[in-house]
Amino acid sequence: MRILFVFFILLIANSSLAHDYVPKEIDYEGIDLGSPMDIPLILSGNFCEMRSNHWHTGLDIKTNGGEGYKLRSVEEGYISRIKVSPWGYGLAIYVDHPNGLTSVYAHISKWPKKVDSLVYAKQLKNESWVLDENVLADSVYVKRGELIAYSGNTGGSLAPHLHFEIRETETEHVLNPLKFKCYRDMIQDKTKPTLSGVKVYAVDRNGYMIPGRSKYYKCALLNGNWIINENNPIDVSDLMTENGFLAFGFHTTDKLDGARNVCGVHHTYLYQEDNLIHEQISEYMIFSVNRFINSHKDYFEFKQNRRNIHKNYITPVNEMPMYPVHNGLVPWDRVKGNYRFTAVDVHGNKNTITFKIGDARGELKPNPFDNGDDYYFPDSVNVVLYPNFQLLMEKGSFYEPLQKRYRVDSNSRYLTPKHVFSEYSIPVQKYFDVRMKVPDSIQGIADYKLGIGLYTNKGYLSFLGGDYIDGWVEAKSRNFGEFVMVMDTVSPLIKKLDYAENKTITKYRTLELNINDNLSGVTRYKAYINGNWVLMKYMKKKRKYVIPLDERSKIHLKKGKNKIRVWARDRTGNESEDITTVVY
Ligand SMILES: [Zn+2]
Repeated sequence: MRILFVFFILLIANSSLAHDYVPKEIDYEGIDLGSPMDIPLILSGNFCEMRSNHWHTGLDIKTNGGEGYKLRSVEEGYISRIKVSPWGYGLAIYVDHPNGLTSVYAHISKWPKKVDSLVYAKQLKNESWVLDENVLADSVYVKRGELIAYSGNTGGSLAPHLHFEIRETETEHVLNPLKFKCYRDMIQDKTKPTLSGVKVYAVDRNGYMIPGRSKYYKCALLNGNWIINENNPIDVSDLMTENGFLAFGFHTTDKLDGARNVCGVHHTYLYQEDNLIHEQISEYMIFSVNRFINSHKDYFEFKQNRRNIHKNYITPVNEMPMYPVHNGLVPWDRVKGNYRFTAVDVHGNKNTITFKIGDARGELKPNPFDNGDDYYFPDSVNVVLYPNFQLLMEKGSFYEPLQKRYRVDSNSRYLTPKHVFSEYSIPVQKYFDVRMKVPDSIQGIADYKLGIGLYTNKGYLSFLGGDYIDGWVEAKSRNFGEFVMVMDTVSPLIKKLDYAENKTITKYRTLELNINDNLSGVTRYKAYINGNWVLMKYMKKKRKYVIPLDERSKIHLKKGKNKIRVWARDRTGNESEDITTVVY
């Protein structure tokens, strides 16, 4: 396995980071799609709004704070995919249309009969409530406008709404629904994007931010025009850095008529005099590159001041397809001049700010990245070797040069001290390998139950898994922070909430339970009535497991005594079961 580790380094060293901008040929003006809902479409979120670690890939449509609104297929087609999960999209349905587009409806509460039968057949086959199935082969046809689901608040949704997407069926690239004239016409908007601030940065030749060398200016209105710095030229002499450039970031958001929610800006451009030096368009998104939002935005500024700043330049660790022009790095001897930044929404509402940069004079300050010893750089492979703790990070694993920070903290209640590498809040693009040496005292004892835990910024331990290899435990992580080695030998704890041995359940509509695991977490669970599998849902928001007693489960109940069996397994393979006799 150690040989594999080295081979892996060779393999990844040559992976390319560049991504070319490829505009799509979609008939946005001509394609006619229907509304997914019967009520007026008011948005609480739009396409390419900034979220944590991703751009929002659809429209969030308000449902008057309630659930159960009818969702309709926007065009005829075949149901292509069904998802059921306590996380993310929750319950979701995908419909493939003959025009090459797929519509997606998420956070659903329930299905109409026709879809419900399809979903349940898959759940029964898999003996699992959780589902992610391609169902094209089942050929379930739906008409345009046909009821396909009811709106809800499932998965990662924080309030009832419909998350609605349009994708290109073939590539699964997500398109901006509001690029389609049919949807633009359904959603009124005369509100201009907001301009809040401009940030000027010293960056190195790759566009990496020089720590501590940036300045933020709040936008202000002067006689109806947006300005900064009271319209005086900004002196950037104090930012001048050897082997560096001046670059810009803009704090801009969009708002839509009739909603207070902060949305994303569709299109921005930046001119230096008459030269377009940066342009960004959120026309479509590719899931595999969506996480590069962490490179697009200034995450330091977001962490400190909650400002969503769009950097108007790119670094080697940004493969997003949204920059037709991206040479936003200005040499120090050419910074002087007039600049103009414009933000435009899909309806064509726009706002512009003009500002001046003065002559940059004086001494160039040393560039901290020129002496490479203090940092790990994102555009190289990084192998971190400490005694008992090792990391292997591919090229492009993180976004900005990472200061070398590592310490061992012996204040730990687990098997090893805490190995503290960088910090949890620094975003990471790719999973990296983390390895920890198994302490001599436990070598050879239940190695397969060992894993690596990482403290989250909320203070709880998240279990990363672990493979025992030659005296070490290896796992994948997409966060830095405090790592410890753990051993999970304890089975999940099943606790019945509303039923018990010999209880009469004739009038019950559900059987409810808690299933908790101390360390690695519950990954699989099943319920049986008299040996027959029955559906058991995990209601994440209520933190409980629920077996509905409906027509499907009740056919397995007989008069008198019945056996209810619940089984659960955690991520390290510890299992538990509960068998309870109830009276019906
Ligand atoms: Zn959404």
